[in-house]
Amino acid sequence: MIARVALPIPRAKPFDYLVPEGMEIEVGFRVRVPLGKRSLWGIVVSVSPSPSYVGELQPIQEVAGPAVSQEVLALIQEVAARSFVSPGLALGRLIPPRVRPRAKRYLLAVPPLEAQALLAELARKAPAQARALAALLSGEEAKGSQAAGALRALSCKGIVRPEALPFTFPLRETRREVSLTEEQRRAVEAVAEAERGETFLLFGPAGSGKTEVYLRAAQAALTQGRGVLLLEPEVSLLPQLWARAVAALDEQVSLYFGDLPPGERWRVWEAALRGKLRAACGTRSAAFLPLKDPGLFVLDEEGEPAYKQEDMAPYYHAREVSELRAAQEGAAVLLGSASPSVESYFRAERGEIRLFRLTRRVAGHPPQVRLVPKGEEVLGPELQAAMDRHLSRGGQVLLFLNRRGFFTGAACRSCGAILRCPGCAVPLVFHLANRSFRCHVCGKAFPQPRCPHCGGERFRLFGLGTERVEFEVRRLFPSLSVARLDSDTAAQRGEILAALAQGEIDVLVGTQMVGKGLDFPRITLVGVIDADGLLSLPDFRAGERTFQLVAAAAGRAGRGEWLGEVIVQTDQPDHYAVRYAAQGDYLSFYREELRFREALRYPPFSRLVRILVEGKGALRKAGELGDDLAGKGFEVLGPVELHPWAGIPRFQLLIKGGKEVAGELREALPSLPRGVKIDPDPLWLA
Ligand code: ADP
Ligand code: ZN
Repeated sequence: MIARVALPIPRAKPFDYLVPEGMEIEVGFRVRVPLGKRSLWGIVVSVSPSPSYVGELQPIQEVAGPAVSQEVLALIQEVAARSFVSPGLALGRLIPPRVRPRAKRYLLAVPPLEAQALLAELARKAPAQARALAALLSGEEAKGSQAAGALRALSCKGIVRPEALPFTFPLRETRREVSLTEEQRRAVEAVAEAERGETFLLFGPAGSGKTEVYLRAAQAALTQGRGVLLLEPEVSLLPQLWARAVAALDEQVSLYFGDLPPGERWRVWEAALRGKLRAACGTRSAAFLPLKDPGLFVLDEEGEPAYKQEDMAPYYHAREVSELRAAQEGAAVLLGSASPSVESYFRAERGEIRLFRLTRRVAGHPPQVRLVPKGEEVLGPELQAAMDRHLSRGGQVLLFLNRRGFFTGAACRSCGAILRCPGCAVPLVFHLANRSFRCHVCGKAFPQPRCPHCGGERFRLFGLGTERVEFEVRRLFPSLSVARLDSDTAAQRGEILAALAQGEIDVLVGTQMVGKGLDFPRITLVGVIDADGLLSLPDFRAGERTFQLVAAAAGRAGRGEWLGEVIVQTDQPDHYAVRYAAQGDYLSFYREELRFREALRYPPFSRLVRILVEGKGALRKAGELGDDLAGKGFEVLGPVELHPWAGIPRFQLLIKGGKEVAGELREALPSLPRGVKIDPDPLWLA
């Protein structure tokens, strides 16, 4: 027999290998094979009696058993084709490496008293779990495979958590017994009775009960014996959704995301593969989990760009992957958001996907949003006054700024030149934490930079980052407890959020990663330090991003009993994205945005494909490729120079076309030249 094996190398079709006598090989197995002088692990994509290669074949060296299901194998091959990379590369990046899970240490995820109370209940229903919990409570190590299984079950119930997970969980959720509103009920029923491969958009403001709909629809799918995947755009949103899913579903719910310790990632993946896992909560990569017979994919906050894998091939959007898979496996896709992507709402309006609206906010009150000018100070007078008011009443304050660092730019005092990263050409950002300049593209630090033009060593610093906001808050409110959450402090995320929940933090400063999903009833004031930062991006989605930023901020205030307030500092209060976000009026924003997109024929009225050309001679290559494609009838924009990446020059071409443009391009470019990458539907153009 001959096995075709996809290997993780960029521009290669699968290779043929001989299956040695007595070796058991099936499609989807992981095997080790020789290639030249190397030996590589790859995935078997087909098995047949006759080779496709004429010449001598080498035998497979080693088998490591099944790595992926037939369905997900086909899916990943399709995703690879769509982003112009070899199936082997895509498989290598999406299937987790087979790493033996280490014996895990678990910690209590609930207060000891609550754990004590749970013991009695568990002793009756699950004695092994009760023993494992009792051991943990008394500080002993629970040992043995039975204990490992019991601890895993306890962690799926939210009672214990693996020590290795990068965040601490909120306290355990209890099952919420709510009776659905009419609107919720209709949405749940429609999804539960979905035709094969149908997509739904659930559109409702924060607190309108979307999560409740996700969970009921998920339970319905589980009851029908089918699998469920619940997705969030960012890891930071997983704990909340996971805890609620654990409480609401009659099924163990696993967690799956890119930063999971490798052993754990493979354990969850393998459990799905073996049909032992029917429900999981995860980020975009979880859309590929090889669950048997998935019946429902849920994408919360579907408009978030983080659903797109954009910095490395295979480029994919979790929504597209879920829909492809749903069509193949007869599942439903449920998208939810308070500010859906323009593309999704457009599809809903045209009847391509079904729209359900939740118009009532069942929890909290819509906050009052005010637009105020930016002015000289980081925290303007209106924001300061509002902070005083809310803090003195015992409220907590969230301040948003989507740039980290202290000063975001530096100009030479003698010649005025802007200090830039020599490799990447982007302005360097001054970080107070280690008193040095850093490049946010390549990450290099420059403790004592000199002006590249005149050698000057003194700089005028300007621009505003989260560190400076934190500094200003401490200066103005010295008695308060202030914390900062951005990717520089992400390691402490769990502790910071726990302290916020306990009321030990008065003011939290953060980038967008803190914005979403925080559900703390005592946050009564949210300040957006600069709403204009995204508006100036040279990207046709700048308006959409700005709307999402301000709307997310508004969604964080007033989750509790108190009236929430949002202060947005902006010098463009009349820009429709800012104005409608402040009014919480997605539909008006959408209409205006759609007019603009139509006038300039941007998506959803066209489709854009990004061609990235990198390396030596990139400009010439991009020019030639552009001319070639234009000659073949494509509408070509560019080449435009992008900031180089670690010294490597990069140029971008955009191809604008109809729905089928990516496929047409694949036919026009059967093989990609070196240094060329293609992303159909890029989300960030700037
Ligand atoms: P969203 O996901 O839209 O932000 P949630 O589903 O989290 O909204 O609902 C917000 C709050 O309202 C939650 O505490 C939830 O338990 C509660 N809730 C949801 N639906 C109902 C309902 N029909 N009746 C009462 N409370 C509800
Ligand atoms: Zn750099």
